[in-house]
Amino acid sequence: VVYSTRYFDGSREDLLTKLRQQLNDSRFEHVKRVEQTALQYADRYGVDRERASIAGLVHDYAKQRPDADFLKAISDYKLDPDLKNWGNAIWHGVVGAELIATELGITDQLILDAVRFHTTGNRYMTPLAQLIYMADYIEPARDFDGVQQARTLMTNNLHAAVAFQTKHTLAYLIADNKPVYPKTIDTYNAWVPGQD
Ligand code: GDP
Ligand code: FE
Ligand code: FE
Ligand code: FE
Repeated sequence: VVYSTRYFDGSREDLLTKLRQQLNDSRFEHVKRVEQTALQYADRYGVDRERASIAGLVHDYAKQRPDADFLKAISDYKLDPDLKNWGNAIWHGVVGAELIATELGITDQLILDAVRFHTTGNRYMTPLAQLIYMADYIEPARDFDGVQQARTLMTNNLHAAVAFQTKHTLAYLIADNKPVYPKTIDTYNAWVPGQD
């Protein structure tokens, strides 16, 4: 795939080279699977294929950065200071989007929002953001109770699939006594009640 220079200044291979420098082998393979999964459903849900490809590839760009990089970025980009109380799980999307903009020169807000919301979801998500949120959850190497049901929902109902992931992730966090990021609860309230 050679990108027309719309959303990234370079080819897909150029982008893969940058990602390889940031990610270990298993994470590098994961982002390529997320890209392919997103592309598999892009036409079905009217999502631009180049945006799906780039967002899928870059969504975990910042996942292996040290905490200090995120704490510095929260200050530098004047993000909500409460973010400092969270950790990599939340930072790599919300703060990672800023690093992607600066370091990869990606300015498209649909792509950046898809990265921003890929872990916690958001009450408003574009079809692209919904697609990346889901592709990350159901890519072929994912194996957990419920993943097959999520894949089935993805074939014809993106909204129901997003609701399914949102409900199951929140239930998992609570069952495991994990802290719940407030945006994750907003996502739940926006997507889950009244679905059945
Ligand atoms: P990955 O980067 O491909 O491994 O996947 P994600 O970015 O979707 O998720 C990263 C981790 O964040 C997962 O273990 C999720 O369960 C976790 N996570 C999602 N929402 C929340 C939340 O509200 N609070 C906390 N503490 N963790 C969350
Ligand atoms: Fe992630
Ligand atoms: Fe996810
Ligand atoms: Fe991921």
